[in-house]
Amino acid sequence: MKVTKNGMVYQLAFLPRFFPVNCYLVEEEHTLTLVDAALPYSSKAILATAAAIGKPITEILLTHGHQDHVGALDELKRSLPEVVVRISARDARLLAGDRSLLPDEGEAPIRGGVPKRVQTRPDCLLQEGEGIGSLQVIASPGHTPGSMAFLDLRSRALLAGDAFQTRGGTAVSGTFKLWFPFPAMATWDKEKAMESAEKLLALEPSLLAVGHGAMLNQPQSVMQHVIEEGRRGA
Ligand SMILES: [Zn+2]
Repeated sequence: MKVTKNGMVYQLAFLPRFFPVNCYLVEEEHTLTLVDAALPYSSKAILATAAAIGKPITEILLTHGHQDHVGALDELKRSLPEVVVRISARDARLLAGDRSLLPDEGEAPIRGGVPKRVQTRPDCLLQEGEGIGSLQVIASPGHTPGSMAFLDLRSRALLAGDAFQTRGGTAVSGTFKLWFPFPAMATWDKEKAMESAEKLLALEPSLLAVGHGAMLNQPQSVMQHVIEEGRRGA
């Protein structure tokens, strides 16, 4: 596991060579917010990193319900019974292992790995626009129907889940990248993913922090470029 700090954002990267999966600790004045919960064996390293920073994790925000973003959730909730777990209402269904579609969602199936044995249920459901500490909640459907991103209003760091990837070349979720095709293979609705990518770019982020790949400083021109690339390929 490798920790990379950028301002108030700590990236924790697991398996960085083979199938890199990130989660993030966002530092607040007295507490830490964990964004995503990585893989089943990740909890020890997450807790050790929080201990090294010296602040308690009081919030767990999940960008979406795929299994590589919620793996350590049960163990973390056992270790931190007071922690508040939040996910969108829509992806709470994925977290519970239910990949059925809602009536207004068309025919395309939910893609990607949905957890089968996660027992933790959200304490609160994420609402677009609400603030949790310094983070503002931004609905960014496409990769999954209920994907959420988080914008740090202090720095405009954007924690975007799998709305973008930077591993194997930066791309909007749904654009196939030969050297790291997994997020594209796991994307539910490519058109919605494009619209969400444009919405996220319009937030003028100063940092792009995603589920797979390194953090990108001053990402706006790259985001613009890959949105155009994705539109051409669509
Ligand atoms: Zn995903």
